Amino acid sequence: MENETVSKNFIEQFIDEDLAEGKYKEVVTRFPPEPNGYLHIGHAKSILLNYGLAKKYGGRFNLRFDDTNPTKEKTEYVESILADVRWLGADFEDRLFFASDYFDQMYEAAVKLIKKGKAYVCDLSAEEIREYRGTLKEPGKNSPYRDRTVEENMDLFERMKNGEFADGEKVLRAKIDMASPNMNMRDPVIYRVARMSHHNTGDKWCIYPMYDFAHPIEDAIEGVSHSICTLEFEDHRPLYDWVVRELEYETPPRQIEFAKLYLTNVITGKRYIKRLVEENIVDGWDDPRLVSLSALRRRGFTPDSIRMFMEMVGVSKANSSVDYAMLEYCIREDLKLKKSRMMAVLDPIKVIITNYEEGKVEYLDAPNNLENEELGSRQIPFCRELYIEREDFMIEPPKKYFRLYPGNEVRLMNAYFVTCQDYKTDEDGNVTEIYCTYDPETKSGSGFTGRKVKGTIHWVAAPYAKQVEVRLYENIVDEEKGVYNEDGSLNLNPNSLTILKNCYVEPMLGEAAPGESFQFVRKGFFCVDTKDSTPEKPVYNRIVSLKSSFKPNKK
Ligand code: ATP
Ligand code: MG
Repeated sequence: MENETVSKNFIEQFIDEDLAEGKYKEVVTRFPPEPNGYLHIGHAKSILLNYGLAKKYGGRFNLRFDDTNPTKEKTEYVESILADVRWLGADFEDRLFFASDYFDQMYEAAVKLIKKGKAYVCDLSAEEIREYRGTLKEPGKNSPYRDRTVEENMDLFERMKNGEFADGEKVLRAKIDMASPNMNMRDPVIYRVARMSHHNTGDKWCIYPMYDFAHPIEDAIEGVSHSICTLEFEDHRPLYDWVVRELEYETPPRQIEFAKLYLTNVITGKRYIKRLVEENIVDGWDDPRLVSLSALRRRGFTPDSIRMFMEMVGVSKANSSVDYAMLEYCIREDLKLKKSRMMAVLDPIKVIITNYEEGKVEYLDAPNNLENEELGSRQIPFCRELYIEREDFMIEPPKKYFRLYPGNEVRLMNAYFVTCQDYKTDEDGNVTEIYCTYDPETKSGSGFTGRKVKGTIHWVAAPYAKQVEVRLYENIVDEEKGVYNEDGSLNLNPNSLTILKNCYVEPMLGEAAPGESFQFVRKGFFCVDTKDSTPEKPVYNRIVSLKSSFKPNKK
């Protein structure tokens, strides 16, 4: 890079100020997922942002499960989130925390507020609380229970904990200001009675803290300096600050908000992904058409490509949607020089080289990546019967068609020149076999310069090729056609998945391990499916085609 200007995003500028003022000795960040679903590309932004800041400032990064709401949480989600965060390379070392481990401290914090006269037990029903809260235009009304004595509140809160009250019968509320212009400050509920088993604490508790109360406490307990969250929490910041101030933490954490990442033509949002999974519209959370991290991994995206993408996207304070093509650009860039370029025929048609000896096989040398010699070369079998792509042959070609047609000569990639002499069709006129002759003088790498051909096509040796299944993907929704139908259901692209069952690949591709990826020349990048592929019947997912609709701004 010729121009090394270090531009800092607004979060880094805030952190610089805080460090300069001596507010914090160390930068401590965290990623706080709620274990109620799998992580998606949006979460990756938060993970890499938080991890990246800790790393940049020589601080610490924590992973903390925000598991204070027992209704929706599952151990399956905890496992998947751990796998995804590790996969992205966001190293939390030994700092894996669970908010539920702090329930005792949260209870103590609530007691502290009661003792300070800053919290009270309220008997209003949920509906009454809503009515009393007022509106954006009108102030709320004080609850008739607001002035209970400290002793009374202490007694009632303890009895809430001991299970003396039914769900919803009583809540603990912060005593702030029912006339505040910020609705979140109108005596928010901070504890509720709920008889639910928790995945971590079992039946120990029948009262659970509310998110806005629990979150700042979790941050403060862990010594988080900068609590980075998304914009929808901006209005909650005064409450966050109130909680850490009233609880008198020595170094109160600072909340900073940034805009969520949205991508065009995909479904982000746990809720929506969950619906597709539950309605069996997709093959689980890791269906390669989704942008959950497990789906991207299964599809063949790499952590490097996702990091590159996040760098390009940057951090912003304004909501916007990023073109999905940009993510595709990043994976192409990442794989371009790292992966071997192999031959695979997705829609096969047989070619017979009539002047090639029957039963003979020769092994030809094929470079793995012309742009990266380090990847070396491989030996590929060549023989009398081959497969080529159906689209690479035409009986009556249009102008500028340089591939195979009767009388035309082309190069078989890494092999010989062949000339089409004849072909055979079935009753319906479909071509079933193509007959060619080859010129032994024209072997690739032999230095032959006698004549030139305009077309090069790829092929595989029929008896040696492995039959595989290939899955091609399109975006699951199309924003130009509308993401939702009139009835609110999702308007899904019926072509989002195409399964090709009769594809032929080079022998080496038939033996690749699940998760391995390659370029198939002219067709794109492909990855062996980790769920459905077997040695007998390999399955390849197309990660991305080679064509791009995205042009990066060249600096
Ligand atoms: P969703 O909106 O998909 O339901 P969520 O916000 O409920 O996600 P959490 O588990 O609560 O998911 O989020 C963990 C962290 O990830 C939070 O700090 C949240 O702000 C952040 N996050 C969630 N979605 C995005 C996104 N699209 N872009 C950036 N950060 C996100
Ligand atoms: Mg959430």
